Amino acid sequence: MTDDVNEKLRSLPSIDRLVAEASELVVTYGRPRVVETLRTLIAEARRGVIAGGPTPGDGWIEAATRRLSDTDKPALTPLLNLTGVVVHTNLGRAVMAEEAARAAYNAARNNINLEYRVGEGKRGDRDELVADLLTELTGAESATVVNNNAAALLLVLNTLADGQPVAVSRGELIEIGGSFRLPEIMGITGATLMEIGTTNRTHVADYERAIADGARLILRVHTSNYRLVGFTSTPSTRELAAVARRTGVPLVVDLGAGALIDTSPLGLPDEPTIRQTLADGADVVTVSGDKLLGGPQAGIVVGDKGLVDRMKKNHLKRALRCDKMTIAALEATLRLYRDPAEALAAIPTLARLARPVAEIQRVAEEVAAGMRRHFGDMAEVSVIDDVARAGSGSLPEVDIPSVSVAIRHKEKSPDELAVWFRRRPTPVIGRIENDLFRLDMRCLESAKSLLDILGVAS
Ligand SMILES: *Cc1c(COP(=O)(O)O)cnc(C)c1O
Repeated sequence: MTDDVNEKLRSLPSIDRLVAEASELVVTYGRPRVVETLRTLIAEARRGVIAGGPTPGDGWIEAATRRLSDTDKPALTPLLNLTGVVVHTNLGRAVMAEEAARAAYNAARNNINLEYRVGEGKRGDRDELVADLLTELTGAESATVVNNNAAALLLVLNTLADGQPVAVSRGELIEIGGSFRLPEIMGITGATLMEIGTTNRTHVADYERAIADGARLILRVHTSNYRLVGFTSTPSTRELAAVARRTGVPLVVDLGAGALIDTSPLGLPDEPTIRQTLADGADVVTVSGDKLLGGPQAGIVVGDKGLVDRMKKNHLKRALRCDKMTIAALEATLRLYRDPAEALAAIPTLARLARPVAEIQRVAEEVAAGMRRHFGDMAEVSVIDDVARAGSGSLPEVDIPSVSVAIRHKEKSPDELAVWFRRRPTPVIGRIENDLFRLDMRCLESAKSLLDILGVAS
């Protein structure tokens, strides 16, 4: 090390001197955190000097104040999802119903009968709390729940395929959001993948041949996150169920989104319901709890009692089981589905999808008026017709008509505008399309909730 560097290192303040100067911070944050923060700042400065940088001057206390107040904010923060993607995995998927959130809170703050039958004073099973509702709502014989749909598939394949080949159509070998790859999940369970048909066409005979060649399970994956268009064909669930019956090989359908009610009022006309899929003859159906269903993250498995019982006995189930808050929120969400009209009103995912465009338009006009007052002649604010998506890589790529507020700023590029909105006290997440920054209003409860964040009177 050169003398110059040594000189600079020696001129860095001592931790004791800084702590003595930081008495106000010590009162607010406590001595250990202040000492730790100052140590970190000095260590960073040393590294900077050794790397050839200048000696930092004063401003240690200011730097410590900034660092402490930044780390004091919770890492997880509510935000406004104005991306136009209703169920956005990166933004926490479903916003739960009030009833579900309250149930999760009560489960968190109290002892509860998670695995205890209060009437009999005996040990119970956490699945019981939701299994009855699930069978009632889907017509299934039996049900179990795990942490997410990926876990549900892991459990299904590990239990039912038992290391044997599983027949899957090439057209259904999906990849969702980079992290969910059917072939890899299959590999973990020890099952082998028997790819059948071609990407665009698979026939009943392909499945029959796979079973003759040793396939012990038929897996169908609902592929509504992408569309095969043109010269395509694949057997219906009914046709596959007939093959399953004839050969005694179970048919498992991974539905993904998990509609419990008819979704045509939500602008998703082709989404099969769990009940219909079971009625068509699927032996087991798996779905996510936090996509269309609008509940907590969970993997729901419904179907034949014998098959579900085997899954419940699998030791893997213990590692995949849901916690009490999930069970509580799921139960409360499912209860709402007993009355489909109530579900549509109370479950935000459904309400957002079903929201009439005229209402979205009204919110957009009000937001735009507020934004014009806020930006003055610095920006051009317009209300534009837009297209929202159900989202989460699992729902159909159906265009859902929506309305956005678009902003063109005189001094900020679309990217800079996006950053500015993200840095509001409550982050506001929009999107840029065709070089235009926009905030899709489908998921905005009221104009006020956005204008308050911007400090604009509505
Ligand atoms: C989303 C999805 C999954 C994964 O579900 P998670 O609940 O995110 O684990 C699996 N299969 C399909 C068809 C899906 O749409």
